[in-house]
Amino acid sequence: MKILVVNCGSSSLKYQLIDMADESVIAKGLCERIGIEGSKLTHQPAGKDKYVVEKPMPDHTVAIKMVMEALQDAEHGVIANTDEISAIGHRVLHGGKIYSESIVVDDDVKRVIRECFDLGPLHNPANLMGIEACEAAMPGKPNVAVWDTGFGMAMPEKAYMYAIPHEYYEKYSIRRYGFHGTSHMFVSGEAIKFGGLDPENAKVIVCHLGNGASVSASIGGKCVDTSMGLTPLEGLIMGTRSGDIDPAVVQFICNKEGKDVNEVLNILNKKSGVLGMSGGVSSDFRDIEAAKREGNHLAEVALDAFIYRVAKYIGAYTAAMNGVDAIAFTAGVGENDKASRKAICSYLGYLGVEIDDEANDVRGKNAVISSADSKVKVMLIPTNEELAIARETKRLTE
Ligand code: AMP
Repeated sequence: MKILVVNCGSSSLKYQLIDMADESVIAKGLCERIGIEGSKLTHQPAGKDKYVVEKPMPDHTVAIKMVMEALQDAEHGVIANTDEISAIGHRVLHGGKIYSESIVVDDDVKRVIRECFDLGPLHNPANLMGIEACEAAMPGKPNVAVWDTGFGMAMPEKAYMYAIPHEYYEKYSIRRYGFHGTSHMFVSGEAIKFGGLDPENAKVIVCHLGNGASVSASIGGKCVDTSMGLTPLEGLIMGTRSGDIDPAVVQFICNKEGKDVNEVLNILNKKSGVLGMSGGVSSDFRDIEAAKREGNHLAEVALDAFIYRVAKYIGAYTAAMNGVDAIAFTAGVGENDKASRKAICSYLGYLGVEIDDEANDVRGKNAVISSADSKVKVMLIPTNEELAIARETKRLTE
């Protein structure tokens, strides 16, 4: 069974064709600059050379057409025809209050994706275009929606309700949703398996630390709390996002700088985080670390603040679950940066967390990085959102 996984952004489309027999990637690729001048498809068949096509891609329908051509190309392709593809799995950002579980797409599902355009203004329209483009390119094949907000929908009311007038929840569905759901679902599940934990009761904290960053707490794979909110702006300090902030700061900057709310929100989303804190050094954590090594004080503060906030969330989530069995690190920083993992865990001595430096000298593969005496298992679990989407798609269409 071969499954095509599609992840559409507003001007991009990432894809992977996965053979579910052994969960191997047969081909993957990226369409960039969709709807913008200079569109480009980069197709990478497993074990073969990269294939680049530079051709206008006015919309996602054309992009999907080019992906299908690349997959079937005589020289660079990996399938004879689209009959070999059993189903298509789509990462869809927002399912609103309606959907928590992945689902086979029908007209109702498309209506909900459309109704959630307000909640995911950049992604939901692109996700819907991706689904409709696949329906046009491969009529009759099942398309499955896997929601980035799905995992967080298991949160109890006390975790997802904002302390604002209730009418806004009723009228506009304003609540905490959480994002990176596919990653938190995958990593918490893998951590339970890899760590040999009780699948029903294990208390797991996942730290997804990449350019976007979030923490989740789950018991037996069910989300108890997660750090992103109505939008991905809440929670940790990220590459360019501020994370938690006193909302009065928005009003203050508006008044002082003569900006409107939208402009300030744009600053909080795109110009803040370690980029903003460091005085503009970079949103990339490697650059921030390099600047810190060169004695840049603001870069050092940004990095310290990032680590401090992750540690505070771990403390809060341990309290929320009345304990923690395992902490798993994932995504760019979590998978590659042993210094950040160690620095975060250095706040957790009170939990009996002890890192084994030798075991922590690892990147990009499942590993236990805590010592044998550690009271909490600390792990590195590389995330694989595409595989998680493919597994969900297989489960629903087999
Ligand atoms: P992601 O969004 O998951 O792709 O993660 C991207 C982030 O991971 C970028 O900020 C990278 O700088 C960071 N990253 C990748 N490798 C390392 C590393 N070895 N040390 C520190 N940060 C890293």
